[in-house]
Amino acid sequence: MTTNTAHATAALSPATAAPGPAPATGLDERIRRNPGAHRVLTGDRPTGPLHLGHYFGTLQNRVRLQRLGVEMFVVIADYQVITDRDLADRLAEHTENLVLDYLATGLDPERATIFTHSSVPALNQLMLPFLSLVSVAELSRNPTVKDEIAHSSQSAVNGLMFTYPVHQAADILFCRADVVPVGQDQLPHLEVARTVARRFNDRYPRPDGSGLFPRPEPLLSAAPLLLGTDGGKMSKSRGNAVSLSADEDTTARLIKGARTDAERRIGYDPVARPEVSSLVLLAALCQDRSPETVAEEIGDRGSAALKRTVTEAVNEHLRPIRTRRAELAADRGHVRQVLRAGAERANAVAEATLAEVRSVMGSV
Ligand code: ATP
Ligand code: MG
Repeated sequence: MTTNTAHATAALSPATAAPGPAPATGLDERIRRNPGAHRVLTGDRPTGPLHLGHYFGTLQNRVRLQRLGVEMFVVIADYQVITDRDLADRLAEHTENLVLDYLATGLDPERATIFTHSSVPALNQLMLPFLSLVSVAELSRNPTVKDEIAHSSQSAVNGLMFTYPVHQAADILFCRADVVPVGQDQLPHLEVARTVARRFNDRYPRPDGSGLFPRPEPLLSAAPLLLGTDGGKMSKSRGNAVSLSADEDTTARLIKGARTDAERRIGYDPVARPEVSSLVLLAALCQDRSPETVAEEIGDRGSAALKRTVTEAVNEHLRPIRTRRAELAADRGHVRQVLRAGAERANAVAEATLAEVRSVMGSV
Protein backbone atom coordinates (compact mmCIF):
# COMPACT_ATOMS: atom_id res chain seq x y z
CA MET A 1 0.00 0.00 0.00
CA THR A 2 1.41 3.36 -0.93
CA THR A 3 0.38 6.89 -0.15
CA ASN A 4 0.60 9.39 -2.91
CA THR A 5 1.33 12.60 -1.07
CA ALA A 6 1.66 14.44 -4.37
CA HIS A 7 -2.14 14.37 -4.62
CA ALA A 8 -2.72 15.46 -1.05
CA THR A 9 -3.61 19.06 -1.61
CA ALA A 10 -5.02 18.54 -5.09
CA ALA A 11 -7.79 16.45 -3.59
CA LEU A 12 -9.17 19.36 -1.59
CA SER A 13 -11.90 21.63 -2.74
CA PRO A 14 -11.56 25.20 -1.49
CA ALA A 15 -15.19 25.27 -0.36
CA THR A 16 -14.65 22.49 2.16
CA ALA A 17 -10.96 22.75 3.00
CA ALA A 18 -10.59 23.80 6.62
CA PRO A 19 -7.99 26.44 7.35
CA GLY A 20 -5.05 25.22 9.35
CA PRO A 21 -1.34 24.71 9.10
CA ALA A 22 0.08 23.45 5.82
CA PRO A 23 0.79 19.73 5.89
CA ALA A 24 4.01 19.24 7.82
CA THR A 25 6.81 19.00 5.30
CA GLY A 26 9.51 16.44 5.79
CA LEU A 27 7.71 14.69 8.66
CA ASP A 28 7.44 11.45 6.71
CA GLU A 29 11.12 11.56 5.91
CA ARG A 30 12.07 12.26 9.53
CA ILE A 31 9.93 9.33 10.70
CA ARG A 32 11.46 6.98 8.15
CA ARG A 33 14.98 7.97 9.22
CA ASN A 34 14.31 7.31 12.91
CA PRO A 35 10.96 5.62 13.66
CA GLY A 36 11.94 4.90 17.26
CA ALA A 37 12.12 8.63 18.04
CA HIS A 38 8.41 9.17 17.32
CA ARG A 39 5.12 8.30 18.94
CA VAL A 40 1.73 8.31 17.24
CA LEU A 41 -1.71 9.04 18.65
CA THR A 42 -4.82 8.71 16.53
CA GLY A 43 -8.40 7.80 17.19
CA ASP A 44 -12.03 7.75 16.18
CA ARG A 45 -15.39 8.34 17.76
CA PRO A 46 -17.44 5.16 18.30
CA THR A 47 -20.39 6.57 16.37
CA GLY A 48 -20.60 3.89 13.67
CA PRO A 49 -18.52 1.66 11.43
CA LEU A 50 -15.33 3.00 9.89
CA HIS A 51 -15.61 4.01 6.25
CA LEU A 52 -13.47 4.60 3.19
CA GLY A 53 -12.69 8.15 4.39
CA HIS A 54 -11.09 6.73 7.51
CA TYR A 55 -9.30 4.06 5.58
CA PHE A 56 -7.64 6.33 3.04
CA GLY A 57 -7.58 9.37 5.34
CA THR A 58 -5.80 7.84 8.34
CA LEU A 59 -5.98 4.06 8.75
CA GLN A 60 -3.53 3.21 5.99
CA ASN A 61 -1.10 5.72 7.45
CA ARG A 62 -1.46 4.18 10.91
CA VAL A 63 -0.68 0.71 9.59
CA ARG A 64 2.24 2.01 7.57
CA LEU A 65 3.70 3.79 10.60
CA GLN A 66 3.20 0.72 12.75
CA ARG A 67 5.10 -1.37 10.20
CA LEU A 68 7.93 1.16 10.28
CA GLY A 69 8.15 0.50 14.02
CA VAL A 70 6.64 3.73 15.38
CA GLU A 71 4.99 3.33 18.77
CA MET A 72 1.23 3.84 18.46
CA PHE A 73 -1.72 4.77 20.67
CA VAL A 74 -5.26 4.59 19.32
CA VAL A 75 -8.04 6.20 21.33
CA ILE A 76 -11.67 5.24 20.89
CA ALA A 77 -13.14 8.59 21.87
CA ASP A 78 -16.28 7.44 23.67
CA TYR A 79 -16.74 10.60 25.77
CA GLN A 80 -16.69 12.68 22.59
CA VAL A 81 -19.73 10.90 21.21
CA ILE A 82 -21.95 13.04 23.44
CA THR A 83 -20.56 16.32 22.08
CA ASP A 84 -23.18 16.42 19.33
CA ARG A 85 -25.94 14.05 20.50
CA ASP A 86 -27.83 13.43 23.72
CA LEU A 87 -27.08 9.75 24.08
CA ALA A 88 -24.19 7.55 23.09
CA ASP A 89 -26.28 5.05 21.19
CA ARG A 90 -25.09 1.40 21.06
CA LEU A 91 -21.72 2.46 22.50
CA ALA A 92 -20.37 -1.00 23.36
CA GLU A 93 -21.31 -2.34 19.94
CA HIS A 94 -19.73 0.57 18.06
CA THR A 95 -16.61 0.34 20.20
CA GLU A 96 -16.13 -3.37 19.51
CA ASN A 97 -16.78 -2.79 15.82
CA LEU A 98 -14.06 -0.12 15.71
CA VAL A 99 -11.60 -2.61 17.18
CA LEU A 100 -12.60 -5.15 14.51
CA ASP A 101 -12.06 -2.52 11.79
CA TYR A 102 -8.63 -1.71 13.23
CA LEU A 103 -7.51 -5.32 13.47
CA ALA A 104 -8.89 -6.20 10.03
CA THR A 105 -7.01 -3.33 8.37
CA GLY A 106 -3.74 -4.37 10.00
CA LEU A 107 -3.32 -2.68 13.38
CA ASP A 108 -1.51 -5.10 15.66
CA PRO A 109 -2.62 -4.92 19.30
CA GLU A 110 0.80 -6.23 20.36
CA ARG A 111 2.33 -3.07 18.97
CA ALA A 112 -0.55 -0.57 19.17
CA THR A 113 -2.25 0.45 22.43
CA ILE A 114 -6.00 0.53 21.70
CA PHE A 115 -8.16 1.96 24.50
CA THR A 116 -11.28 3.99 25.27
CA HIS A 117 -11.37 7.47 26.84
CA SER A 118 -13.63 6.38 29.63
CA SER A 119 -11.21 3.69 30.81
CA VAL A 120 -8.33 6.14 31.40
CA PRO A 121 -9.30 8.67 34.12
CA ALA A 122 -5.87 10.36 34.31
CA LEU A 123 -6.08 11.27 30.61
CA ASN A 124 -9.36 13.10 31.17
CA GLN A 125 -7.99 14.88 34.21
CA LEU A 126 -5.39 16.60 32.03
CA MET A 127 -8.25 18.61 30.56
CA LEU A 128 -8.44 20.76 33.68
CA PRO A 129 -5.07 22.50 33.45
CA PHE A 130 -5.29 22.46 29.65
CA LEU A 131 -8.64 24.28 29.66
CA SER A 132 -7.01 27.17 31.51
CA LEU A 133 -4.54 27.65 28.65
CA VAL A 134 -7.01 28.52 25.87
CA SER A 135 -9.46 31.37 25.67
CA VAL A 136 -13.17 31.01 25.05
CA ALA A 137 -12.72 33.19 21.94
CA GLU A 138 -10.14 30.76 20.55
CA LEU A 139 -12.48 27.83 21.09
CA SER A 140 -15.47 29.51 19.48
CA ARG A 141 -13.42 30.39 16.38
CA ASN A 142 -12.56 26.73 15.66
CA PRO A 143 -13.90 25.93 12.16
CA THR A 144 -14.28 22.19 12.82
CA VAL A 145 -16.31 22.87 15.96
CA LYS A 146 -18.51 25.21 13.89
CA ASP A 147 -18.99 22.54 11.23
CA GLU A 148 -19.82 19.86 13.80
CA ILE A 149 -22.31 22.21 15.43
CA ALA A 150 -23.96 22.69 12.02
CA HIS A 151 -24.39 18.91 11.71
CA SER A 152 -25.26 18.29 15.36
CA SER A 153 -28.53 16.59 16.25
CA GLN A 154 -28.90 18.81 19.33
CA SER A 155 -30.86 22.03 19.42
CA ALA A 156 -28.37 23.76 21.74
CA VAL A 157 -24.58 23.57 21.73
CA ASN A 158 -23.21 21.94 24.86
CA GLY A 159 -19.98 22.80 26.70
CA LEU A 160 -18.32 19.54 25.74
CA MET A 161 -18.61 20.49 22.08
CA PHE A 162 -16.62 23.69 22.70
CA THR A 163 -13.99 21.91 24.75
CA TYR A 164 -13.71 19.03 22.24
CA PRO A 165 -10.36 20.30 20.86
CA VAL A 166 -8.93 20.61 24.38
CA HIS A 167 -10.05 17.09 25.16
CA GLN A 168 -8.28 16.05 22.01
CA ALA A 169 -5.16 17.87 23.20
CA ALA A 170 -5.32 15.67 26.31
CA ASP A 171 -5.67 12.57 24.10
CA ILE A 172 -2.55 13.48 22.18
CA LEU A 173 -0.41 14.86 24.99
CA PHE A 174 -1.15 12.26 27.66
CA CYS A 175 1.18 9.89 25.80
CA ARG A 176 3.38 12.70 24.49
CA ALA A 177 2.64 11.82 20.89
CA ASP A 178 4.40 13.96 18.30
CA VAL A 179 2.72 12.52 15.17
CA VAL A 180 -1.02 12.50 14.55
CA PRO A 181 -2.27 10.87 11.31
CA VAL A 182 -5.56 12.65 10.68
CA GLY A 183 -7.96 13.82 8.02
CA GLN A 184 -8.18 17.46 6.96
CA ASP A 185 -11.10 18.21 9.31
CA GLN A 186 -8.85 17.64 12.31
CA LEU A 187 -6.22 20.27 11.48
CA PRO A 188 -7.83 23.07 13.52
CA HIS A 189 -8.07 20.71 16.52
CA LEU A 190 -4.45 19.79 16.15
CA GLU A 191 -3.56 23.46 16.16
CA VAL A 192 -5.22 23.72 19.58
CA ALA A 193 -3.16 20.77 20.84
CA ARG A 194 0.00 22.50 19.59
CA THR A 195 -1.00 25.71 21.34
CA VAL A 196 -1.77 23.89 24.60
CA ALA A 197 1.60 22.10 24.49
CA ARG A 198 3.50 25.32 23.85
CA ARG A 199 1.68 27.34 26.51
CA PHE A 200 1.96 24.57 29.10
CA ASN A 201 5.70 24.25 28.47
CA ASP A 202 6.16 28.04 28.74
CA ARG A 203 4.10 28.37 31.90
CA TYR A 204 5.28 25.25 33.69
CA PRO A 205 8.83 24.40 32.62
CA ARG A 206 10.64 21.46 34.21
CA PRO A 207 13.38 22.32 36.72
CA ASP A 208 15.98 22.03 33.93
CA GLY A 209 13.98 24.50 31.81
CA SER A 210 12.80 21.92 29.27
CA GLY A 211 9.14 21.45 28.30
CA LEU A 212 7.07 18.42 29.26
CA PHE A 213 5.21 18.10 25.97
CA PRO A 214 6.24 17.77 22.32
CA ARG A 215 4.45 19.91 19.70
CA PRO A 216 2.44 17.33 17.78
CA GLU A 217 2.40 17.46 13.99
CA PRO A 218 -0.41 16.29 11.69
CA LEU A 219 0.30 13.62 9.10
CA LEU A 220 -2.07 13.91 6.15
CA SER A 221 -2.59 11.20 3.56
CA ALA A 222 -3.28 11.31 -0.17
CA ALA A 223 -7.01 11.58 0.63
CA PRO A 224 -7.32 14.00 3.54
CA LEU A 225 -10.95 14.77 2.72
CA LEU A 226 -12.75 11.98 0.92
CA LEU A 227 -16.27 13.00 -0.05
CA GLY A 228 -19.35 10.94 0.70
CA THR A 229 -22.18 9.97 -1.63
CA ASP A 230 -23.90 13.35 -1.09
CA GLY A 231 -20.80 15.36 -2.01
CA GLY A 232 -20.03 16.41 1.59
CA LYS A 233 -17.26 15.04 3.82
CA MET A 234 -17.77 11.29 4.18
CA SER A 235 -18.83 10.89 7.81
CA LYS A 236 -20.17 8.08 9.97
CA SER A 237 -23.04 10.16 11.18
CA ARG A 238 -24.14 11.88 7.96
CA GLY A 239 -25.57 8.83 6.15
CA ASN A 240 -23.21 9.32 3.21
CA ALA A 241 -20.52 6.74 3.92
CA VAL A 242 -19.41 3.45 2.42
CA SER A 243 -18.28 1.45 5.40
CA LEU A 244 -15.38 -0.96 5.31
CA SER A 245 -17.62 -3.72 6.63
CA ALA A 246 -20.42 -3.23 4.07
CA ASP A 247 -21.07 -6.17 1.74
CA GLU A 248 -20.31 -5.94 -1.98
CA ASP A 249 -23.91 -5.35 -3.07
CA THR A 250 -24.42 -2.56 -0.55
CA THR A 251 -21.15 -1.01 -1.69
CA ALA A 252 -22.35 -1.13 -5.31
CA ARG A 253 -25.72 0.39 -4.39
CA LEU A 254 -24.16 3.25 -2.40
CA ILE A 255 -21.63 4.13 -5.08
CA LYS A 256 -24.33 3.97 -7.76
CA GLY A 257 -26.26 6.61 -5.82
CA ALA A 258 -23.25 8.91 -5.38
CA ARG A 259 -23.62 12.46 -6.59
CA THR A 260 -21.74 13.39 -9.77
CA ASP A 261 -22.25 16.13 -12.36
CA ALA A 262 -23.76 16.50 -15.82
CA GLU A 263 -20.51 16.53 -17.78
CA ARG A 264 -20.02 13.31 -19.76
CA ARG A 265 -16.24 13.37 -19.99
CA ILE A 266 -14.64 12.17 -16.76
CA GLY A 267 -11.72 14.24 -15.52
CA TYR A 268 -9.74 14.80 -12.37
CA ASP A 269 -10.25 18.36 -11.18
CA PRO A 270 -10.94 18.45 -7.43
CA VAL A 271 -11.63 22.19 -7.42
CA ALA A 272 -14.07 22.44 -10.32
CA ARG A 273 -15.57 18.94 -10.05
CA PRO A 274 -15.21 17.77 -6.44
CA GLU A 275 -17.71 14.88 -6.52
CA VAL A 276 -16.44 13.25 -9.73
CA SER A 277 -12.83 13.81 -8.65
CA SER A 278 -13.38 12.20 -5.26
CA LEU A 279 -14.74 9.08 -7.00
CA VAL A 280 -11.81 9.06 -9.41
CA LEU A 281 -9.41 9.41 -6.48
CA LEU A 282 -11.12 6.54 -4.69
CA ALA A 283 -10.62 4.16 -7.62
CA ALA A 284 -7.04 5.39 -8.01
CA LEU A 285 -6.21 4.77 -4.36
CA CYS A 286 -7.70 1.28 -4.48
CA GLN A 287 -5.78 0.41 -7.61
CA ASP A 288 -2.60 2.22 -6.64
CA ARG A 289 -2.67 4.32 -9.81
CA SER A 290 -2.77 8.05 -10.41
CA PRO A 291 -6.21 9.71 -10.56
CA GLU A 292 -5.32 11.25 -13.92
CA THR A 293 -4.76 7.78 -15.42
CA VAL A 294 -8.07 6.51 -14.06
CA ALA A 295 -9.96 9.53 -15.42
CA GLU A 296 -8.25 9.27 -18.80
CA GLU A 297 -9.17 5.61 -19.09
CA ILE A 298 -12.86 6.24 -18.47
CA GLY A 299 -12.84 9.26 -20.77
CA ASP A 300 -16.19 9.86 -22.47
CA ARG A 301 -17.99 6.89 -20.96
CA GLY A 302 -19.56 9.05 -18.27
CA SER A 303 -20.58 8.69 -14.63
CA ALA A 304 -22.09 5.22 -14.93
CA ALA A 305 -18.79 3.79 -16.17
CA LEU A 306 -16.91 5.70 -13.49
CA LYS A 307 -19.14 4.25 -10.81
CA ARG A 308 -18.71 0.72 -12.13
CA THR A 309 -14.94 1.16 -12.04
CA VAL A 310 -15.05 2.57 -8.51
CA THR A 311 -17.32 -0.22 -7.26
CA GLU A 312 -15.07 -2.92 -8.66
CA ALA A 313 -11.93 -1.26 -7.35
CA VAL A 314 -13.34 -0.77 -3.85
CA ASN A 315 -14.78 -4.26 -3.56
CA GLU A 316 -11.60 -5.83 -4.84
CA HIS A 317 -9.38 -3.79 -2.55
CA LEU A 318 -11.50 -4.44 0.52
CA ARG A 319 -12.13 -8.16 -0.12
CA PRO A 320 -9.23 -9.49 2.02
CA ILE A 321 -9.97 -6.93 4.76
CA ARG A 322 -13.63 -7.91 4.85
CA THR A 323 -12.78 -11.62 4.98
CA ARG A 324 -10.36 -11.05 7.83
CA ARG A 325 -12.91 -8.90 9.65
CA ALA A 326 -15.54 -11.65 9.46
CA GLU A 327 -13.06 -14.12 10.96
CA LEU A 328 -12.15 -11.74 13.78
CA ALA A 329 -15.81 -10.97 14.52
CA ALA A 330 -16.32 -14.58 15.57
CA ASP A 331 -14.21 -13.97 18.69
CA ARG A 332 -15.64 -11.03 20.67
CA GLY A 333 -13.67 -12.21 23.70
CA HIS A 334 -10.47 -11.34 21.87
CA VAL A 335 -11.78 -7.84 21.08
CA ARG A 336 -12.54 -7.21 24.74
CA GLN A 337 -9.13 -8.53 25.72
CA VAL A 338 -7.49 -6.06 23.29
CA LEU A 339 -9.37 -3.21 24.99
CA ARG A 340 -8.48 -4.42 28.49
CA ALA A 341 -4.79 -4.71 27.70
CA GLY A 342 -4.84 -1.31 25.94
CA ALA A 343 -6.55 0.35 28.90
CA GLU A 344 -3.99 -1.06 31.30
CA ARG A 345 -1.08 0.31 29.30
CA ALA A 346 -2.74 3.65 28.61
CA ASN A 347 -3.53 4.08 32.31
CA ALA A 348 0.11 3.53 33.26
CA VAL A 349 1.25 6.13 30.73
CA ALA A 350 -1.48 8.64 31.67
CA GLU A 351 -0.77 8.35 35.38
CA ALA A 352 2.94 8.95 34.82
CA THR A 353 2.20 12.04 32.72
CA LEU A 354 -0.32 13.37 35.23
CA ALA A 355 2.22 12.91 38.04
CA GLU A 356 4.73 15.00 36.08
CA VAL A 357 2.09 17.62 35.31
CA ARG A 358 1.26 17.89 39.00
CA SER A 359 4.92 18.13 39.86
CA VAL A 360 5.75 20.99 37.46
CA MET A 361 2.56 22.80 38.54
CA GLY A 362 3.67 22.53 42.14
CA SER A 363 0.72 20.41 43.34
CA VAL A 364 1.23 18.08 46.23
P1 ATP B 1 -18.60 11.44 12.94
O1 ATP B 1 -19.54 11.72 11.81
O2 ATP B 1 -19.25 10.67 14.05
O3 ATP B 1 -17.85 12.66 13.42
P2 ATP B 1 -16.38 10.75 11.22
O4 ATP B 1 -16.73 9.93 10.05
O5 ATP B 1 -16.19 12.21 11.02
O6 ATP B 1 -17.50 10.45 12.33
P3 ATP B 1 -14.31 10.65 13.19
O7 ATP B 1 -14.32 9.55 14.20
O8 ATP B 1 -14.83 11.99 13.59
O9 ATP B 1 -15.11 10.13 11.91
O10 ATP B 1 -12.85 10.86 12.60
C1 ATP B 1 -11.81 9.92 12.81
C2 ATP B 1 -10.61 10.22 11.93
O11 ATP B 1 -10.92 9.96 10.57
C3 ATP B 1 -10.14 11.68 11.96
O12 ATP B 1 -8.73 11.68 11.89
C4 ATP B 1 -10.73 12.27 10.72
O13 ATP B 1 -9.96 13.35 10.23
C5 ATP B 1 -10.65 11.09 9.75
N1 ATP B 1 -11.71 11.19 8.74
C6 ATP B 1 -13.04 11.15 8.98
N2 ATP B 1 -13.72 11.32 7.84
C7 ATP B 1 -12.80 11.48 6.84
C8 ATP B 1 -12.89 11.71 5.42
N3 ATP B 1 -14.05 11.80 4.82
N4 ATP B 1 -11.75 11.83 4.72
C9 ATP B 1 -10.54 11.73 5.33
N5 ATP B 1 -10.38 11.53 6.67
C10 ATP B 1 -11.49 11.40 7.42
MG1 MG C 1 -15.99 13.54 12.78
